[in-house]
Amino acid sequence: MSKTLFQRICDKEIPAAIVYEDEHIVAFRDIKPMAPTHVLIIPRKPIATLEDATPDDHAVLGHLLIKASAIAKQLSLVEGGYRLVLNNGRDAGQEVPHLHFHLLAGRKLAWPPG
Ligand code: 5GP
Repeated sequence: MSKTLFQRICDKEIPAAIVYEDEHIVAFRDIKPMAPTHVLIIPRKPIATLEDATPDDHAVLGHLLIKASAIAKQLSLVEGGYRLVLNNGRDAGQEVPHLHFHLLAGRKLAWPPG
């Protein structure tokens, strides 16, 4: 199976501004930021959507959330607040079939989202 775009970023085949990485996840700046801070946080494992996650993925899914908070602290986003978004499937606008959280911050974010 060919690699997803995000696997190629994890493997450093495509350059990206990485803000955090460990053996399970990578976080890097979105190429088309929708807010002053826009970071994508992904598992190294190419899980396409939440429905493709298995019980084996419990730990990595939890790790993504725990590290999202750590990354928000690292980038000094906690005081102003931030939003985590997971676009899952076509109607949600998921373009890259590799699970990812968008971490958005640095401006007042509208609700409900469009
Ligand atoms: P989705 O629409 O799937 O939720 O989000 C995919 C995100 O990946 C988009 O915000 C898009 O700007 C970002 N993206 C697409 N290609 C690249 C790339 O090559 N590098 C980086 N850093 N971000 C990308």
